[in-house]
Order: sequence, then C-alpha cells, then structure tokens
Amino acid sequence: MSFSEFPVSPEIHRSIKDRGHHTPTPVQAGAIPVALSGRDVVATAETGSGKTAAFLIPTIDRLHRKNTRHLAALVIMPTRELAAQAAREFDLIARHTRIRCATVVGGEAERRQIDEIRKGAQVLVACPGRLIDFIERGIVKLDKIEVVIIDEADRLLDMGFLPQLRRIMRMVPKNRQTMMFSATMASGPEMIAREFLTTPERITVGGKSAPPSQIRQSIYPVTLENKGPVLLEILKRPEVESAIVFTRTKSRADRVAKMLQRAHVNAVQIHGDRSQSQRNAALAGFRARKFRVMVATDVAARGLDIPDVSHVINFDLPDETDGYIHRIGRTARMGKAGEAISLVTQDERVNLARLERTLGNVLDREHVEGFEKIEIHAPKPVTVFRSSGARNRSTRNRPRSRWA
Ligand code: AMP
Repeated sequence: MSFSEFPVSPEIHRSIKDRGHHTPTPVQAGAIPVALSGRDVVATAETGSGKTAAFLIPTIDRLHRKNTRHLAALVIMPTRELAAQAAREFDLIARHTRIRCATVVGGEAERRQIDEIRKGAQVLVACPGRLIDFIERGIVKLDKIEVVIIDEADRLLDMGFLPQLRRIMRMVPKNRQTMMFSATMASGPEMIAREFLTTPERITVGGKSAPPSQIRQSIYPVTLENKGPVLLEILKRPEVESAIVFTRTKSRADRVAKMLQRAHVNAVQIHGDRSQSQRNAALAGFRARKFRVMVATDVAARGLDIPDVSHVINFDLPDETDGYIHRIGRTARMGKAGEAISLVTQDERVNLARLERTLGNVLDREHVEGFEKIEIHAPKPVTVFRSSGARNRSTRNRPRSRWA
C-alpha cells in the first residue's frame, strides 16, 4: 500500500511526500481510512508505530477541506513531551494548509500558549491539567469541537487523569468523532472506549504487547558496585552510537549521569525533578546528538520519539514487564535494529524471573571481561504445606506464588 491511495487533499499528500514517507505503517493503513470516513476509532498502538500521523492526517484533512476557522479538534495527551512531539508532527503535516495548532501544557509560560489560541488555532494539543485551567478561565471553549483524540489512554489512566478526562469530555459536543489510542487494551482503556466512543472500529497492531523482534536483548549479571564500571565499559563500544540509560529513581539518574560526565561521556539526565526547560534542553540536545547518552527515569520511557537510538541500557530493571517493553521500545524504531542491555544484580532476580516468564524466553547472559562473573538464579517456588501444625503457620512458609 502507498500513501497515494488515501483520498486526502493534495496539500496533505504534498507534506507526506516532503517528509519522504511512502508506505503507511500498519496502524496508519488501518486507522486512516476509517477516520476519514468519520467513524470512531480505537487503536492499540505504541509510540513508534506512526500513530500520531494516523490521527493527524485525517483530522487535518477534514478541517482543511471544510476550511475550518474555529477550534474544532482536541488532542488529549498525558505528558508535555508527548504534546510537544505531536505538535511538531502537526506542523509538518499541516504545513501546506491553513490549519494551525496550539499546545496547552503545564510547566511552561502561559503567554505563548494563549497567543497561539488567540491567533486562531483549529487544533488544540493539550494535557488535562492546564486545559481545565484554561477552560475555567474562559481562555478555551470546547463547544465547537468536532474531533477528539485521546492519546496514550493507558498512560492517562496510570497518571490518574480519569476525573479530568471525564470533565473535559462532558464539555465537548455529543455529536463528534472520537479516536482513542493506547499501548495496551487492559480494562482501563477499554472502559474509556466504552464511555466516550460510539461503535468504534477496532485496530490492533502487532497483537499482544511484546518487544519488536529486531531488538537484541541481553542480561549482564553484575554486583551492585560494578554496575557503574560495567556501564562505562559498555559505553566504550563503538557500536553504541546513542544510548538511553534507565534508572529506577531520579536520584540514581542524577548520580549515574554525574558518574558518566566525570568519565568524559557526553551524558545528560531527564526526569521529573528537572524543570521543563531543562528537560526540553536535554531532549533537544540528545536528539541533535550533542549528547551521546541520556540517563532517564520511566517518566521519559513512555512516548518519547527519539529516532535512531542504538542502545537502551537498563541500569536497573523495572518492576513490571510492561515497563521493560516500553523502555526497550525506544530502540529499533520504525523497523530498525537495536540492542537492549540490562544490568542485573542478585537482588533483582525476582524481577528478572518475572520478566523472562512473561517474555516466554530466557535472555542471553553476557559478561564484560575483567569483571567478577556472577550467576543469577531465579528464586525457587516455595512449597507450601497444607497440613496443620505450628511449623506451617510460620510466616516463612507463606505462599509466595507470585514468584513461582
Ligand atoms: P509515532 O508513533 O507517531 O510517535 O511515530 C514515530 C515516528 O515514525 C515519527 O518520527 C514519524 O515521523 C515516523 N513515521 C510516521 N509514519 C511513518 C511512515 N509511514 N514511514 C516512516 N516513518 C514514519
């Protein structure tokens, strides 16, 4: 299939061509025709699948054809970074039309955002908090909205935005088109779909949540004190062109970044305790290859579209397999090859066992020359005695089936 088969305006075809995109990604091939027909869409798709263009192309085309002048489309995003990315993508797709977008996110000066709205944006890309603030102050009115896009629905729920989402959805007209995108279709996103969408067409890309097959995954069993030195050794490899290093906490991200900087590695950190301008600068610098390494917490894991990351390194394993899949999904974007490396200590064996069980395979064990070689054993399932007796009431014999 080629983009030329979509019945969109010549101006949209031109911008797609400008970008050098020829073949729609699976989510685009599935969602664009349905969205163009005006129907509601629910798509299970992750960042990196091309989903932003999947909802922006039909939305911009619709407003462009109708020569819309008022605020007519709303994109709801969980984080500022995602909103900024969608706005960038918007500018590229809408460049040959008169359709404009305004971004409404917290943590940044209001002035520019208000100016963008007042200049007459037809599309609003917004995070729930600041949007509600602007609505309450009469800066934004949603009464003429025709299209609503709920992006990263699972993440919106994780971040506790359901009450805000409900408030916003009560303010948009009933007669509208609604599209929802989510990396997973667990009960939460399913509930949102039922609450806000009308007989949507369902589009699922890639089946169950699993890492792309072109990512090479490996585990480096290490002692806690060797995590830093082993990371430095790995980063010396010439094939590590650019890497995101994930840590469990913000303070660890700071410490790892400082350790790398002391070793003259071009590294920057991004996490929730840094100001918005620091985060923007870190991301822009990493994208422009000013920094070779970005040390991040999970705040940065979801949704960031950073092209050409050759390596994702888990300095700490995440607690959940979903988190692992999201993290390593930052490499191997758009079908490219990529490598995911995890440094795992004996203390992290429970998470490792759970991860390997969910992935359905044992990941390759690797070792850096010159460092102590350790083996990590999965915890053994604990046998629980069902017979009565004081011995079995001891807390040490409690069922620990979640480890099994
Ligand atoms: P997204 O899933 O929307 O975050 O998109 C991920 C990246 O894929 C973005 O950098 C897009 O520019 C790129 N992209 C989107 N659609 C295509 C396509 N059809 N062909 C190649 N790259 C694309």
